[in-house]
Amino acid sequence: MATTLAITNPATGAVILRVAADGIREVAARYATARAAQPRWAATSIRKRLAAVAKFREQVVARSETLAHTLTQEVGKPIAQSRNELKGLLGRIDFFLAESTHALREQKVFADDAHKLDERITHEPLGVVANISAWNYPYFVGSNVFLPALVAGNAVLYKPSEFATLTGRHIADMLYAAGVPEDVFVPVIGAGATGAALLRQPVDGVFFTGSYATGAKIAAGAGKRMIKVQLELGGKDPVYVCDDVDVTAAAAAVADGAFYNTGQSCCSVERIYAHEAIYAEFVDAFVAAVKGFRIGDPMEASTYIGPLTRRPQLDVLRRQVADARRKGARLASGGSAIKRKGNWFAPTVLTDVDHSMLVMREESFGPIIGIQAVADDDAAIELMNDSDYGLTAGVYTQDAVRARRILSRVHAGSVYWNCCDRVSPRLPWSGVKRSGIGLTLSTLGIQTFTRPKAWHLRSA
Ligand code: NAD
Repeated sequence: MATTLAITNPATGAVILRVAADGIREVAARYATARAAQPRWAATSIRKRLAAVAKFREQVVARSETLAHTLTQEVGKPIAQSRNELKGLLGRIDFFLAESTHALREQKVFADDAHKLDERITHEPLGVVANISAWNYPYFVGSNVFLPALVAGNAVLYKPSEFATLTGRHIADMLYAAGVPEDVFVPVIGAGATGAALLRQPVDGVFFTGSYATGAKIAAGAGKRMIKVQLELGGKDPVYVCDDVDVTAAAAAVADGAFYNTGQSCCSVERIYAHEAIYAEFVDAFVAAVKGFRIGDPMEASTYIGPLTRRPQLDVLRRQVADARRKGARLASGGSAIKRKGNWFAPTVLTDVDHSMLVMREESFGPIIGIQAVADDDAAIELMNDSDYGLTAGVYTQDAVRARRILSRVHAGSVYWNCCDRVSPRLPWSGVKRSGIGLTLSTLGIQTFTRPKAWHLRSA
């Protein structure tokens, strides 16, 4: 039976719209549609599929103000950051346009004329893939999957997060306007139950972005099916600030990495270790930077901190603050929800923290951070690796050799020197431990939507 999904503005708590959510029957019908259409799509030329992606880019450019407005309205992302996400999307599209033909070409890997033997690799589409997506960067995390999946010849069942449904609809409209058939890119609308119904369909691959808790359920459910499963999950990303930095500049950069998107990025800085020689100075500069962040109506261009997208996360943050304070942390800024309509939490800095505290162990996914002093690089490395997660990790130092030495010992999918909270379409995006399996982006993240087929050819 179909249910209704209420789409709420997290800045005010007001319901924007109610839409029908897909139940088991609708999901099965959408699957059947995509399954029937996929071979025809795979039989088109890659040039035609890329032409649709190029037209999709034109749609994004033409509609960008409307798209930014919707994103801010339903997710609460400050409008300047919504615009930034759309600009960033263009860079990712350009990467796929430039690299896909080469990444998916047929490769001759061996030729032996004497034995008339020829060996080749082709990249076959997986078939019908499910893309279950998150809300925090819906254009980024969605396009990392559905664009290369489509280019590779797959049909895509796309389930946007229930917190980014209207954005999901915009994406579908733009793809159709760009020439992608409606039965090749098929939105599936709803919350967790709809996602679970989607996974009961005999899809050929599952590409999921979201929390470890949901990812673990998906992995368990898909285990026996021998299909490709990629999970891009959460993080508890550390940054280590060495004793040789320009403290004010490093504090400003790391504060941005921790609080951009109101701390709701998978690669937000979630833990900071500062060398004890600069710890006090760093804390002061960091707190000053955080106190300078403008909190307010996300529709205003000058707003930097907006509401939390999901209301239950307020309780997660409250619990982390209370736990840290009980165990001896010092509250240097914020520390509680802001009393206004919607889901607001004051930017919060906790110092004198340690790894007994939840704020240093579980994903916060909000505007809150702990800063811990460390005696030396070895202590910092040990703490950076003391986590269930491993998405990204960064180090700030003027010394390139020192940075390499530290980062080579850190167990994470991406490592940063003098930068953080950064994703590049040219580099693989992946995590270790509870941050997931598989990857998107880079040329590997184009090939991941295919099955390499081995050709052994011997002419008579
Ligand atoms: P979530 O796990 O709550 O939901 C993700 C998606 O899964 C949603 O579309 C949801 O409807 C669906 N879902 C929920 N239960 C399901 C079930 N049982 N079966 C199938 N689908 C189900 O996560 P979220 O709140 O949307 O996203 C936040 C999380 O995502 C954070 O942990 C963040 O770090 C992570 N994230 C990771 C990356 C990355 O690239 N590694 C990027 C963005 C977000």
